[in-house]
Amino acid sequence: MGSTEIIVPARGGRAIRVPLGARIEVADLAGGQVVDTWAFSSGDVSEFHSAEHTRVGVGKLFPALGEDFVTNRRRPILRFEADSSPGLHDMLIAACDRTRYEQLGVTGWHASCQENLVSVMAAEGFSDIRVPQPINLFMNTPVLPDGVVQWLATQTRAGDRVVLRALMDIWFVVSACPQDITGINNTPGLISVIVIDHGAPMQLQESEAQGECVNDAKSAP
Ligand SMILES: [Zn+2]
Repeated sequence: MGSTEIIVPARGGRAIRVPLGARIEVADLAGGQVVDTWAFSSGDVSEFHSAEHTRVGVGKLFPALGEDFVTNRRRPILRFEADSSPGLHDMLIAACDRTRYEQLGVTGWHASCQENLVSVMAAEGFSDIRVPQPINLFMNTPVLPDGVVQWLATQTRAGDRVVLRALMDIWFVVSACPQDITGINNTPGLISVIVIDHGAPMQLQESEAQGECVNDAKSAP
Protein backbone atom coordinates (compact mmCIF):
# COMPACT_ATOMS: atom_id res chain seq x y z
CA MET A 1 0.00 0.00 0.00
CA GLY A 2 1.39 3.39 -0.92
CA SER A 3 0.43 6.84 0.27
CA THR A 4 1.25 10.07 -1.51
CA GLU A 5 0.49 13.63 -0.43
CA ILE A 6 0.28 16.44 -2.94
CA ILE A 7 0.13 20.03 -1.72
CA VAL A 8 -1.84 22.21 -4.12
CA PRO A 9 -0.73 25.84 -4.10
CA ALA A 10 -3.15 28.62 -3.27
CA ARG A 11 -4.92 29.60 -6.52
CA GLY A 12 -3.22 26.67 -8.28
CA GLY A 13 -4.14 23.24 -9.59
CA ARG A 14 -2.78 19.71 -9.77
CA ALA A 15 -3.52 16.58 -11.81
CA ILE A 16 -2.94 13.25 -10.06
CA ARG A 17 -3.10 9.75 -11.54
CA VAL A 18 -5.22 7.64 -9.18
CA PRO A 19 -5.77 3.90 -9.59
CA LEU A 20 -9.04 2.03 -9.18
CA GLY A 21 -9.83 1.49 -5.51
CA ALA A 22 -7.54 4.19 -4.14
CA ARG A 23 -8.70 6.45 -1.33
CA ILE A 24 -8.44 10.19 -1.99
CA GLU A 25 -8.46 12.63 0.90
CA VAL A 26 -8.91 16.30 0.00
CA ALA A 27 -8.24 18.69 2.88
CA ASP A 28 -8.63 22.44 3.17
CA LEU A 29 -5.57 23.12 5.29
CA ALA A 30 -6.35 26.67 6.47
CA GLY A 31 -10.13 26.61 6.06
CA GLY A 32 -12.29 28.85 3.91
CA GLN A 33 -11.18 27.50 0.53
CA VAL A 34 -13.39 26.08 -2.22
CA VAL A 35 -11.84 23.21 -4.21
CA ASP A 36 -12.98 22.62 -7.78
CA THR A 37 -12.61 18.91 -8.51
CA TRP A 38 -12.72 16.78 -11.67
CA ALA A 39 -12.18 13.12 -12.56
CA PHE A 40 -11.36 11.77 -16.02
CA SER A 41 -11.06 8.13 -17.03
CA SER A 42 -7.35 7.63 -17.52
CA GLY A 43 -8.07 5.13 -20.29
CA ASP A 44 -10.13 7.67 -22.27
CA VAL A 45 -10.30 11.22 -21.01
CA SER A 46 -13.40 11.89 -23.12
CA GLU A 47 -15.18 10.03 -20.30
CA PHE A 48 -15.30 12.15 -17.18
CA HIS A 49 -17.27 12.86 -14.03
CA SER A 50 -20.52 14.55 -15.07
CA ALA A 51 -22.47 16.72 -12.66
CA GLU A 52 -25.63 16.60 -14.76
CA HIS A 53 -25.56 12.81 -15.10
CA THR A 54 -24.82 12.47 -11.39
CA ARG A 55 -27.80 14.66 -10.51
CA VAL A 56 -29.98 12.30 -12.55
CA GLY A 57 -28.43 9.27 -10.86
CA VAL A 58 -28.85 10.46 -7.28
CA GLY A 59 -31.91 12.68 -7.68
CA LYS A 60 -30.24 15.55 -5.84
CA LEU A 61 -28.68 18.86 -6.69
CA PHE A 62 -25.69 18.57 -4.37
CA PRO A 63 -23.14 15.88 -3.50
CA ALA A 64 -24.20 13.61 -0.63
CA LEU A 65 -22.25 11.21 1.54
CA GLY A 66 -22.30 7.58 0.47
CA GLU A 67 -23.31 8.29 -3.10
CA ASP A 68 -21.47 7.77 -6.36
CA PHE A 69 -20.56 10.36 -8.93
CA VAL A 70 -21.04 9.03 -12.46
CA THR A 71 -19.52 9.86 -15.83
CA ASN A 72 -21.02 11.29 -18.98
CA ARG A 73 -21.50 7.58 -19.89
CA ARG A 74 -23.31 7.04 -16.58
CA ARG A 75 -20.66 4.78 -15.08
CA PRO A 76 -19.59 5.23 -11.44
CA ILE A 77 -16.26 7.04 -11.22
CA LEU A 78 -16.01 8.36 -7.63
CA ARG A 79 -17.67 7.46 -4.33
CA PHE A 80 -18.18 10.10 -1.63
CA GLU A 81 -17.10 8.14 1.45
CA ALA A 82 -16.45 10.57 4.30
CA ASP A 83 -16.69 14.22 5.20
CA SER A 84 -15.46 16.14 8.26
CA SER A 85 -16.55 19.53 6.86
CA PRO A 86 -19.96 21.14 7.46
CA GLY A 87 -21.11 19.10 4.45
CA LEU A 88 -21.78 21.94 2.04
CA HIS A 89 -20.67 21.17 -1.52
CA ASP A 90 -21.81 22.29 -4.94
CA MET A 91 -22.61 20.45 -8.17
CA LEU A 92 -24.34 23.26 -10.09
CA ILE A 93 -21.83 25.98 -10.78
CA ALA A 94 -19.37 26.14 -13.67
CA ALA A 95 -15.67 26.59 -13.04
CA CYS A 96 -14.47 30.17 -12.95
CA ASP A 97 -12.71 31.29 -16.10
CA ARG A 98 -11.26 34.41 -17.68
CA THR A 99 -14.61 35.63 -18.98
CA ARG A 100 -16.18 35.23 -15.55
CA TYR A 101 -13.55 37.53 -14.07
CA GLU A 102 -13.89 40.04 -16.92
CA GLN A 103 -17.61 40.17 -16.25
CA LEU A 104 -16.87 40.73 -12.58
CA GLY A 105 -14.80 43.78 -13.50
CA VAL A 106 -11.29 42.35 -13.39
CA THR A 107 -8.88 43.84 -15.90
CA GLY A 108 -5.82 41.81 -16.85
CA TRP A 109 -5.00 38.21 -16.10
CA HIS A 110 -6.59 36.44 -13.16
CA ALA A 111 -5.99 32.85 -12.14
CA SER A 112 -9.01 30.64 -12.76
CA CYS A 113 -10.09 27.07 -12.14
CA GLN A 114 -10.58 26.50 -15.88
CA GLU A 115 -7.05 27.64 -16.64
CA ASN A 116 -5.71 25.48 -13.83
CA LEU A 117 -7.44 22.38 -15.23
CA VAL A 118 -6.37 23.05 -18.80
CA SER A 119 -2.75 23.74 -17.87
CA VAL A 120 -2.21 20.80 -15.55
CA MET A 121 -3.77 18.35 -18.02
CA ALA A 122 -1.81 19.85 -20.93
CA ALA A 123 1.33 19.19 -18.90
CA GLU A 124 0.29 15.53 -18.77
CA GLY A 125 -0.09 15.41 -22.56
CA PHE A 126 -3.80 16.22 -22.88
CA SER A 127 -3.79 19.43 -24.85
CA ASP A 128 -7.49 19.50 -25.74
CA ILE A 129 -9.16 18.52 -22.50
CA ARG A 130 -12.83 19.22 -21.93
CA VAL A 131 -13.75 21.39 -18.95
CA PRO A 132 -16.69 19.62 -17.33
CA GLN A 133 -18.78 21.21 -14.63
CA PRO A 134 -16.75 20.55 -11.48
CA ILE A 135 -17.62 19.04 -8.15
CA ASN A 136 -17.10 22.16 -6.05
CA LEU A 137 -16.02 20.81 -2.70
CA PHE A 138 -16.77 23.06 0.29
CA MET A 139 -18.69 25.56 -1.88
CA ASN A 140 -21.67 27.15 -0.13
CA THR A 141 -24.13 28.09 -2.88
CA PRO A 142 -27.55 26.91 -1.72
CA VAL A 143 -30.67 27.17 -3.86
CA LEU A 144 -33.67 28.95 -2.37
CA PRO A 145 -37.22 27.63 -2.89
CA ASP A 146 -37.75 30.16 -5.67
CA GLY A 147 -34.69 28.83 -7.51
CA VAL A 148 -32.35 31.70 -6.65
CA VAL A 149 -28.74 30.62 -6.06
CA GLN A 150 -27.06 32.27 -3.09
CA TRP A 151 -23.33 32.98 -3.15
CA LEU A 152 -22.24 32.48 0.44
CA ALA A 153 -18.83 32.13 2.06
CA THR A 154 -17.59 28.59 2.52
CA GLN A 155 -17.88 27.35 6.11
CA THR A 156 -14.90 25.02 5.95
CA ARG A 157 -12.64 25.01 9.01
CA ALA A 158 -8.92 24.41 8.99
CA GLY A 159 -8.18 20.77 8.28
CA ASP A 160 -11.66 19.84 7.13
CA ARG A 161 -11.53 17.05 4.59
CA VAL A 162 -13.56 14.82 2.34
CA VAL A 163 -12.73 11.27 1.33
CA LEU A 164 -13.45 10.02 -2.17
CA ARG A 165 -12.87 6.53 -3.59
CA ALA A 166 -11.77 6.04 -7.18
CA LEU A 167 -14.15 3.60 -8.89
CA MET A 168 -12.00 3.41 -12.02
CA ASP A 169 -8.47 4.42 -13.00
CA ILE A 170 -8.63 8.18 -13.19
CA TRP A 171 -6.90 11.48 -13.57
CA PHE A 172 -8.02 13.39 -10.50
CA VAL A 173 -7.72 17.16 -10.86
CA VAL A 174 -8.18 19.82 -8.21
CA SER A 175 -8.05 23.59 -8.30
CA ALA A 176 -7.81 25.79 -5.22
CA CYS A 177 -10.42 28.21 -6.50
CA PRO A 178 -8.91 31.70 -6.91
CA GLN A 179 -12.28 33.46 -6.81
CA ASP A 180 -11.73 36.59 -4.72
CA ILE A 181 -14.51 38.75 -6.08
CA THR A 182 -17.76 37.02 -5.15
CA GLY A 183 -16.86 36.27 -1.52
CA ILE A 184 -17.26 32.47 -1.66
CA ASN A 185 -13.65 32.03 -0.41
CA ASN A 186 -11.75 33.52 2.46
CA THR A 187 -8.01 34.03 2.07
CA PRO A 188 -6.68 31.75 -0.69
CA GLY A 189 -5.09 28.74 0.90
CA LEU A 190 -3.32 25.47 0.37
CA ILE A 191 -5.06 22.20 -0.36
CA SER A 192 -3.72 18.79 0.56
CA VAL A 193 -4.57 15.74 -1.51
CA ILE A 194 -3.55 12.38 -0.05
CA VAL A 195 -3.89 9.32 -2.26
CA ILE A 196 -3.74 5.94 -0.55
CA ASP A 197 -3.34 3.12 -3.02
CA HIS A 198 -4.14 -0.32 -1.70
CA GLY A 199 -2.18 -1.96 -4.47
CA ALA A 200 -4.32 -4.64 -5.99
CA PRO A 201 -7.85 -3.46 -6.82
CA MET A 202 -9.91 -3.67 -3.67
CA GLN A 203 -13.42 -4.95 -3.26
CA LEU A 204 -15.34 -1.74 -3.73
CA GLN A 205 -18.50 -3.09 -2.18
CA GLU A 206 -16.53 -3.33 1.06
CA SER A 207 -15.71 0.37 1.04
CA GLU A 208 -15.09 1.96 4.39
CA ALA A 209 -18.10 3.15 6.29
CA GLN A 210 -16.61 6.41 7.49
CA GLY A 211 -18.46 8.30 6.12
CA GLU A 212 2.11 25.46 -1.66
CA CYS A 213 3.14 26.19 -4.53
CA VAL A 214 1.56 29.61 -5.22
CA ASN A 215 0.58 31.16 -8.51
CA ASP A 216 1.20 34.87 -8.52
CA ALA A 217 -2.23 36.22 -9.04
CA LYS A 218 -5.11 37.42 -7.07
CA SER A 219 -6.94 34.66 -5.43
CA ALA A 220 -13.80 30.38 -6.16
CA PRO A 221 -15.67 29.42 -9.35
ZN1 LIG B 1 -12.77 28.84 -9.36
